[in-house]
Amino acid sequence: MKMSEQKEITIQNYLEYIQSKKLMGSKCKKCNALYVPPRKLCTECNSTELEWIEMSGKGKIAAFSCIGVGTTFMVNKGYSMKKPYCFSVIKLNEGPMVSGQLIGVDESKPETILIGTPVGVSFIETELKGGETRIDLGFKPI
Ligand SMILES: [Zn+2]
Repeated sequence: MKMSEQKEITIQNYLEYIQSKKLMGSKCKKCNALYVPPRKLCTECNSTELEWIEMSGKGKIAAFSCIGVGTTFMVNKGYSMKKPYCFSVIKLNEGPMVSGQLIGVDESKPETILIGTPVGVSFIETELKGGETRIDLGFKPI
């Protein structure tokens, strides 16, 4: 029973880890395949023996787009056509691809943002009505 503290591999728990500022994935114990967000079943070897593993949070920009008409959540944060935000897909150094907001860049000049730029994870805190804090995955050039 020594693995009893191991949380079940679910998206819910993945999101809870993000709330505690940890970027976690799952790793197949048989073939070492990595998944972020985590999977319970390895699509490489069909094994169900996967375990949580913390990612370094470092990677490179694989794709991005700057968004002027965003989700309600982003509009409420003050983003607009005049103040766009960037959403990116990052290829982590460990291999998996993960998406998140790209910060620390000039969103109004997307031509200055380059594919392949090294980034590190940066957890973005947003104060919600009612005093709760929401934490989202973000990436910033390093
Ligand atoms: Zn596997």
